[in-house]
Amino acid sequence: MKIPSPRTGKYDIDLPEYSEAEVSALTNSLREAQSEWWQAGLEKRIEIMLAFADEITQHKPALVAALINDTGRKDESELEVDATVSTIRRWCKQAPDLLDCGHSRAAEIPFIELQQTYLPYPLVGIISPWNFPLLLSLVDAIPALLAGCSVLLKPSEVTSRFVEPLNEILSQLPELSGVLSAVTGGGQTGQAVIEHVDSLCFTGSVATGRKVGEACAKRFIPAFLELGGKDPAIVCADADVDLAAKALCWGSMVNAGQSCMSLERVYVHKDIADEFISKLTANVSQLKHNYPDINQGQVGPIISNKQVDIVKQQLADAKQKGAVFQCGGEVIELGGGQYCQPTIVTNLTADMKLLQEETFAAILPVVIVDSDQQAIEMANDSEFGLSAAVFSCDVDYAKKVASQLEAGAISINDASLTALIHEAEKQSFKYSGLGGSRMGAESIRRFMRKKAFIRNTGVPSPWWF
Ligand code: NAD
Repeated sequence: MKIPSPRTGKYDIDLPEYSEAEVSALTNSLREAQSEWWQAGLEKRIEIMLAFADEITQHKPALVAALINDTGRKDESELEVDATVSTIRRWCKQAPDLLDCGHSRAAEIPFIELQQTYLPYPLVGIISPWNFPLLLSLVDAIPALLAGCSVLLKPSEVTSRFVEPLNEILSQLPELSGVLSAVTGGGQTGQAVIEHVDSLCFTGSVATGRKVGEACAKRFIPAFLELGGKDPAIVCADADVDLAAKALCWGSMVNAGQSCMSLERVYVHKDIADEFISKLTANVSQLKHNYPDINQGQVGPIISNKQVDIVKQQLADAKQKGAVFQCGGEVIELGGGQYCQPTIVTNLTADMKLLQEETFAAILPVVIVDSDQQAIEMANDSEFGLSAAVFSCDVDYAKKVASQLEAGAISINDASLTALIHEAEKQSFKYSGLGGSRMGAESIRRFMRKKAFIRNTGVPSPWWF
């Protein structure tokens, strides 16, 4: 399977596509190793995971280099590696408390004693997207491994160059490499993974998520689905305009808008709309592409060719229906890569794809509303419900607005905080996902099945025949 570089457009890697038989063989060996991994105990698993964090740190240059080739951006690639290391260390600290089941205790019926235990799912499958290739492959893998599971990763075929340095790291850690493996390939390899695991974490689009959810339901295995979004921001009449214009510039343009929790639409009150749009446009206009020097600029290329087509279609649709581009508005080619110009667009109508579909690019549509209530209604008029943002100088009022938004995490007077604040539990609403919170301490419990020992302490039960 030949994959192009996002910076040059040249097909520079031929990715192995794992067959069903190869996936099956690998899952057998992961299952075998899991039993020892589980029995070794949490202390041992923590020791090995901390060694994993150290090895990642040592191999950071190789990992970052591969991630740059995968994604065409540098700062975010460094950040991905650093965030992975800090995620491992954080979970290693938290796991002992979270996995402690406590002692036996009396049940409500006094002669019955109860002991709560848990058993990990033997093998967790992880299927991940291309926008944060390393982080989104490991964010669920780390708590799953600490809980005692084996893990099989299937990263996006668009961005799997990082698997080679990851395997190099794993080769230094024999105990871990027995229980953590990666396979490469596209949708068929993904389907094979689903056929052979006991629980599945999927991050990707709604369309694929639906297929994955159905395949998991057929196998009666849990599916944790983290899907797309069209996150709205509401800028209320009393908002700090400078702050909102700065936060939303970052929240919509960071990683060239290729984040699930990117702000993808703004509803701004008419009283402050002109000032807000002009300040937001000024901020966004200052952003530069990271071309030709990857060390300069803030906005990288569009990573996936499929996404290039989606973005071009959405821009063409908006132009044809009369949208006004305050800045940007084109996907341009630079050195063979495809870059979206940082774009602010106004004069939108509700039927435009830019307001309805996930865009996943450096484009922010701004809609002027007559009231904050109208903004809430428009923000909720979407099939997505991932996260959102509210700007108001009155904190109680901002929370009142936030409470009416149909989404799992609402940033107040900031943007996309859900990506940074790990302890904030949240679920995805509507088509943005399914299953327990990935964020927050409790998320490790998604990888364990609860099991209870219920003991009669020696009294004949009164309900016996
Ligand atoms: P995608 O759905 O095209 O692919 C995701 C993964 O699924 C890839 O690894 C792909 O190979 C695999 N796949 C494809 N078909 C499959 C099938 N039939 N069975 C099993 N696996 C299959 O998504 P993408 O384009 O790689 O990623 C972008 C999407 O991911 C966006 O919608 C974005 O919002 C979403 N995303 C969500 C979150 C979140 O936390 N909610 C985070 C990041 C990205």
